[in-house]
Formats: sequence, structure tokens, C-alpha cells
Amino acid sequence: IKSIGILTSGGDAPGMNAAIRAVTRSAIYNGLKVYGIYRGYKGLVTDEIQEFKSQNVSNIIQMGGTILKTARCKEFTTPEGRAQAYENMKKHEIDALVIIGGDGSLTGARIFAQEFDVPCIGLPGTIDNDLYGTDTTIGYDTALNTILDAVDKIRDTATSHERLFFVEVMGRDAGFLALNGAIAAGAEAAIIPEFSTEVDQLEEFIEHGFRKSKSSSIVLVAESELTGGAMHYAERVKNEYPQYDVRVTILGHLQRGGRPTAHDRIIASRMGVASIQALLEGQRNVMIGIDDDKIVYVPFVKAIKNDKPIDRELVNVLHELSI
Ligand code: ATP
Repeated sequence: IKSIGILTSGGDAPGMNAAIRAVTRSAIYNGLKVYGIYRGYKGLVTDEIQEFKSQNVSNIIQMGGTILKTARCKEFTTPEGRAQAYENMKKHEIDALVIIGGDGSLTGARIFAQEFDVPCIGLPGTIDNDLYGTDTTIGYDTALNTILDAVDKIRDTATSHERLFFVEVMGRDAGFLALNGAIAAGAEAAIIPEFSTEVDQLEEFIEHGFRKSKSSSIVLVAESELTGGAMHYAERVKNEYPQYDVRVTILGHLQRGGRPTAHDRIIASRMGVASIQALLEGQRNVMIGIDDDKIVYVPFVKAIKNDKPIDRELVNVLHELSI
């Protein structure tokens, strides 16, 4: 391998810039040429590709978003689109790709790598923390801290007015942001997709003692279709428990922005360096993960296909502490 291309794809996440910097610098350190590919797979298909030097990634470690931009690219889901992408790789003599993104982006990488025999390394870049085989993903810690800031503020007003707040957080079909956000913010409950078919989480929360000893309650709800979102629960409370004064806050895209935390910058840097190491070792088609604070290689199929389990211990912690 003499040169690599790097791209960010799917939803953006704080820390992606730190990852771009790490991949670029580590590649150059190891004697490889680096190409920045703009707008995810779109730039690979439309040839928005530029050689990156060390200076191209100066002064970006602290910035949210991604300097490479990101996009969703329909063409790349077709064989013709991917063939065009491969042509552009050949044109620039790019031998391998580092893809920073979520499960969709890594699915695309897996298919592309198989079709054209291109070594691809994935970095888990998503605030959702929904990739299997890694304890955490780039952006997750920052999003969690953003949620915490917001919920702390909601708590002030919730307490003043003795209200029940449903706060909707991101996470797609994963409840990590909602559950850990609830624990960290001292919220009363979290409604998460993982348990949506198991129990009626609203009933559970009400029975557990809403308002027995409290002047306000905050419940974090994961945005997933499986939960129905915060509005759904607010409507239910209005109908079933009209005595409660209910409010809804949907945090939305503010969860995707902001300066990455130290934790996200460090894992992004470690994973970026590991991606180049992996390529030099002849690894291909793996996602770089962190397990028990050690770098691990997770085959794409495993990272994407498996549902990442929610640790019951966390559920218990929230339950015990919200009496
Ligand atoms: P996030 O989880 O933050 O939304 P993501 O990586 O899962 O990020 P997606 O929109 O699912 O985001 O995927 C990003 C891009 O990856 C798509 O726009 C498409 O170009 C490519 N992609 C996704 N699935 C496939 C697939 N099955 N085949 C080829 N390419 C795919």
C-alpha cells in the first residue's frame, strides 16, 4: 500500500475531525500518501478528491463536524455507482480506504471491499454508540455530555413548576444515549428501544413511584420508532394520567454538534493511528474498536450485524437511584 483515501460518511459526529487528523498524520508518518475524499461516498463517485498534507489537518482537533463534509449517497448503493467510485480510486492511485461513519457507511465499505478487492478499514463515527464490538464510538461521549448540559437546565425549570418532562434524545434504535444520559443527569427513567417489546416502560415508571417524594420528574426517551418518541409518551400521560403537568423537549441536532470532549479526541486519535497500523499489517475489512481500553479489530460483518446489548447493570443503577 502506497496511498490511502479517507472519508466521513452518514451522520456527522464530534471527533470526526480528530480522526481525520490522526489518520492523515499517521499515514504521512508511515510514508503513505493521503487523499481527502469530500462528502463521503459521493465524493468518491463524483471525484471530489484532494491530496492531503499534514497542514490540511492543522487546527481541527477541537472542531465539531467534519472538514471533509459528509453526505448520504444513493449512487454508491448501486453497482454502477460503486464501479465509478473504483475508477476514481484507480485514477488517483488510491490503494486503500479509511471510512469514518456508522453502520450504513460500514455496510457500504463491506460491499465495496468485496466487489473490488480494496482494503477498507472502518472507524466507528456515530453519536449512537450502536456498533458491535467496541465499547464506545467517536462522538458518543460528546453527545452524552451535551445531553447532560441540556437536562441539567431542564431540571431547574422542571423543579420550579413541578412538571413531568419527557426529553427526547438521539440514538436511532440504540438506547445508550438515553440510558447513560439518564444515569448521569439523575433523571427518573429512560425509555429505550431495547425494551420496547418487553415491558410497558411508562407503566413501569409510573408504578415505580413518580411523584411519591419528588417535585419533578425527567424521563429520557430514545427517538426510535420502536419507542414512538417523547410526544407519544406525553400524549399517553395526558390521556391516562391527566393529573400530571407534562412537557416535551426534543433535543434534536444540537446533540450532533459541539467541541469534542477529551475522551472523544483521544479515542479518535488512537483509532486513527490504529487504522494505519492495521493497513500496514495487511488487515482489511475490519472496524477499529476499543474493548476494555485496548484497540481491537472487528470484522465488518460482526460490527454491523449484531445488536449491541444494553448492560442490565446500567438499567438497575438507574432504577435503584430513582426512588
Ligand atoms: P449514522 O448511523 O450516523 O446515520 P450511517 O453511516 O449509518 O451513519 P447511512 O445513511 O445509513 O449512515 O449510510 C451512509 C452511506 O453509506 C449511504 O448514504 C450510502 O452511500 C452508504 N451505504 C449505506 N448502506 C449501503 C449499502 N447497503 N450498500 C452500499 N452503500 C451503502
